[in-house]
Amino acid sequence: MSTIPVSDSAERFHEAWARLLSADHGMAVHPGLLRGLVARTAALLHRAQQDEPFEPRLAAQAGAELVDAHFTDPVLLARAVELLQAQPVGDARGPALTGAFAAGWAAALRERTLREQEAIRTAADTARKEAERALRASEARFRALFESAAIGIGIGDTDGNILAVNKALQELFGAAPEDMTGRRVGDLVHPEDTPGVWEAYEELISGKREYFQFDKPYYRQDGEVVWTHLTVSLIRDDDGIPQYQVAMLEDITDRYRLQERLRHQATHDSLTGLPNRAAFFERLEKLFEEPEPGARFGLCYVDLDGFKVVNDSLGHDTGDQLLSAVAARLKAALSPLGHLVARLGGDEFVVLLENCRGEQEAVAAAKTVLKALAGPVLIGDHKLAVGASVGVLERRVSTTTPGAAVRAADLTLYRAKEAGRGRWTLFDPKENARAVSRYAVSVRMPAALDQGEFFIDYQPLYALADGRLAAVEALVRWRHPQLGVLGPDEFVTTAEETGLIMPLGRWVLEQACGQAADWIKRFGDAAPQLNVNLAVRQARSAALVTDLGRILDTTGFDPARLQLEITESTVVGPEDEALRTLHGLVDLGVSLAVDDFGTGWSNLAYLRDLPVSGLKIAGSFVGDLHDPAKDESTGWRIVSGLVSMAHALGLTVTAEGVETRKDAERLRTIGCDWAQGWHFGRPVRPGEIARRITEEPQGRPVGGSSAEG
Ligand code: C2E
Ligand code: MG
Ligand code: MG
Repeated sequence: MSTIPVSDSAERFHEAWARLLSADHGMAVHPGLLRGLVARTAALLHRAQQDEPFEPRLAAQAGAELVDAHFTDPVLLARAVELLQAQPVGDARGPALTGAFAAGWAAALRERTLREQEAIRTAADTARKEAERALRASEARFRALFESAAIGIGIGDTDGNILAVNKALQELFGAAPEDMTGRRVGDLVHPEDTPGVWEAYEELISGKREYFQFDKPYYRQDGEVVWTHLTVSLIRDDDGIPQYQVAMLEDITDRYRLQERLRHQATHDSLTGLPNRAAFFERLEKLFEEPEPGARFGLCYVDLDGFKVVNDSLGHDTGDQLLSAVAARLKAALSPLGHLVARLGGDEFVVLLENCRGEQEAVAAAKTVLKALAGPVLIGDHKLAVGASVGVLERRVSTTTPGAAVRAADLTLYRAKEAGRGRWTLFDPKENARAVSRYAVSVRMPAALDQGEFFIDYQPLYALADGRLAAVEALVRWRHPQLGVLGPDEFVTTAEETGLIMPLGRWVLEQACGQAADWIKRFGDAAPQLNVNLAVRQARSAALVTDLGRILDTTGFDPARLQLEITESTVVGPEDEALRTLHGLVDLGVSLAVDDFGTGWSNLAYLRDLPVSGLKIAGSFVGDLHDPAKDESTGWRIVSGLVSMAHALGLTVTAEGVETRKDAERLRTIGCDWAQGWHFGRPVRPGEIARRITEEPQGRPVGGSSAEG
């Protein structure tokens, strides 16, 4: 971060600023006033550049003062933004300062526009009353007012027929009078009409409201789009019956374009022109909003090798040019493939593959990245060899979250760097879990429990026969102060390795039993059964039976309503000592279910000897039904076979990972008892479960409401 001596840079900025404001902006300003304005705003901006800590308010105020002095020309804003961007301030502050300035300017302009609109509206209101009188009294006087108005005015009847338009409105539409009168209001609609306009329109002509206002696009006669600020008012006859509508349209196309431009600046990196971090996350989060079942995505996290050396030895200018060149190459190589390239900051870039078809495609993108950066970049007299390392992640959308995916891609990148530069490395869930724990998990976990950083979400399980909320599964999460919310897959293994799973598991049981006891107190029999996961190590510990007995006592929770989920690897043979613990648990009155059945050992013979009463079919069986590489009817035969096998053993069957209504229906017809998955609801806070208990007393139709959240 380099800064130029204060007095020197301040003086130069002041001069450039004065030149900018004195240029011809189509208005006459008194030189004294102008000098004052220049001095005030330059001082504000200078302070915004230099003061510690950074005060964005100062820059915003400078923007607002310009608007107050009628400097509202978008061209001026654009120049001012360019000038500010050329200022040598700390890299972190530059964009924020420019943004604050532009935002202050835009907010002041909007404020002012609103004031003006209000004035126009009042005038229009007066004009309307005037017009009502004029209509009745003097047609001629009204005509004069109508024709001379500077904003577009059109009059229509309540059936939507256009009766008259003034000259300003014809000009706005670029149309001749005969093109407009005799047509209907609906003919002028823009296909991407602003939401809510037509509802407001219906209310107006039926007399339910007096006027409405919207910013709304129209097509001009020549096909161009014109953005307008539209105000429509209702005129009633002497008896108060709606008779006419008067529309006033102000052309705001310039202002609209400016907003678009500011939005572009907010979402694009000023150095490379690529979408920036914010824009990338927005796109990524969109993918997760309502994904198709089985939808996949890919990420290539790219970091240049040795960029710091270039930057430090050849200077920031060269560094900047190198980054621009890299951005251009990445864009040229990857955009044609339909992938999004964004700059995350520094020398980090990311490629997003929406609708990815599989790991191969993501790896191909990573290879394209490396190939694009293979040749040297010529900058001035320097021939710079840039290389990069790429972390590749390719996953089903429903198995992760945006935050976890980016973190995982970043950690994968580190592995690529560690393995030697200039290569790509593919995400590996085990490596990832290990890396996460290496980072911050294991060290922090003991304190985290004391600090209350863990919390529990509950995911509903529905009975397929009658759509009743049958049970909820307690799923633990960790709100990590640096890493954000971590899912159990990211820390449970470490907790098992370090032994922390024992106090953590006890805490989960205490919390969940307390919560479920509370639901019973509030809702009685409508409260669902509680399912809690047991780690292998917990199930193998004799102390568990005593612990659970105490927890049931203190919370007063009915053991008959508690089911513990164990994994197939909990019990390895008929002589296993873990069996003693499991029998001890069943003696307390709780039931057991085998979780994720089908992913482990799946020894059916021993399943018969376990004291379990439920079986949960792993989500991957249902997920595989949508895998284009796998035969769906075989998949269904497997699921159906598992259901009958479990029923033959007298077990209740739950299907996990049910994401679509179609799958829920089919599972119901093959006799599966319960189901859990996105289609029925994600893991949620306890309050949301309470809401479901009260709002769904009759159960929900299994094929009915669709996935949420
Ligand atoms: P699980 O017991 O099989 O829990 C179900 C997991 O599947 C949950 O992941 C849940 O969010 C996810 N899931 C539910 N419906 C769907 C769906 O429709 N599609 C997809 N793709 N996923 C779905 P989560 O919360 O990440 O938990 C992961 C695992 O961590 C759990 O798998 C469980 O084995 C373990 N776990 C969670 N809480 C605890 C705990 O308190 N103690 C122990 N020992 N393990 C826990
Ligand atoms: Mg489970
Ligand atoms: Mg499971």
